Amino acid sequence: MTARIIDGAAVAQQVRAEVAEAVKARVSAGKVVPGLAAVLVGENPASQVYVRNKRKACEEVGIASFGYELPASASQEEVEALVSQLNADPKVHGILVQLPLPAGLDEQRVLNAIRIEKDVDGFHPMNLGRLAQKGRDPLFVPCTPAGCMVMLEKELPSLEGVNAVVLGRSNIVGMPVALLLVRANATVTICHSRTKNLPDVVRSADVLVAAVGREEMVRGSWVKPGAVVIDVGINRVEDASKPKGYRLVGDVAFDEVKEIAGAITPVPGGVGPMTIAMLLKNTLRAAELAD
Ligand code: NDP
Repeated sequence: MTARIIDGAAVAQQVRAEVAEAVKARVSAGKVVPGLAAVLVGENPASQVYVRNKRKACEEVGIASFGYELPASASQEEVEALVSQLNADPKVHGILVQLPLPAGLDEQRVLNAIRIEKDVDGFHPMNLGRLAQKGRDPLFVPCTPAGCMVMLEKELPSLEGVNAVVLGRSNIVGMPVALLLVRANATVTICHSRTKNLPDVVRSADVLVAAVGREEMVRGSWVKPGAVVIDVGINRVEDASKPKGYRLVGDVAFDEVKEIAGAITPVPGGVGPMTIAMLLKNTLRAAELAD
């Protein structure tokens, strides 16, 4: 059996269209245009590309985007002063600080400085803490985990009682995905670099979310027949046949796993496009919260 391919680009396009429609309706109703401030510190080329793509996506759906660039030599105080200025700016509903920050800057302190009402990345400890607490809701859910859930729920409208395995426990992907799955009443196992007998644990999964950053680590023999597999990994592997000299692969050996799984996200074209779509959705929500 060959797995259904979950088309992240198509789902993301649908989310973007919904956001564009809602922004248009706000503007016609005389409400303020949602605004996203993107803060880039230093000149990391990958970060520059990410910020450019996020700003372009904002413009496409009618969200105002404001770019702020600071040199890699910027001090902690300078970065935090910019965040304070954006916290107070009524045109800015969401603040995105592109990570990683250059060495020497304290990322957590910068993230803590963002007002939680503008924390559209969902990385503020208050938002993550609320995600972990029963009976409380975060204002924003981190974008990549939220995107994983949207795709999963298209495949499995109910996750109740489902055995879910999450590979990875980072603050930005693994842990929030696991928390979201628990909130959806799945039974969740979180794996990491110290997990023993990883292939056996993965074989118990009806739903597998892989976010480890290890190219094609999950093999076909690790996967339960019919499982739904969400591959978050984005890894570059050298490939002289490609114009850029590399290609992108996930944390899952796609060609093997697609023969076993029931459904699978490809890389590229799976989780990646969903991340930006969820950022747009969070920015719209931030503007609505400010109304
Ligand atoms: P991190 O490096 O922060 O976390 C990786 C996690 O994987 C850690 O919990 C680590 O365990 C675990 N891990 C590492 N090696 C192994 C192993 N051999 N066996 C089991 N567990 C292991 O990565 P991120 O969470 O930030 O990102 C994960 C992947 O997702 C990357 O490929 C990244 O590029 C991609 N990504 C994609 C996004 C998208 O938009 N599609 C957005 C963000 C990330 P331990 O905690 O023990 O160290």
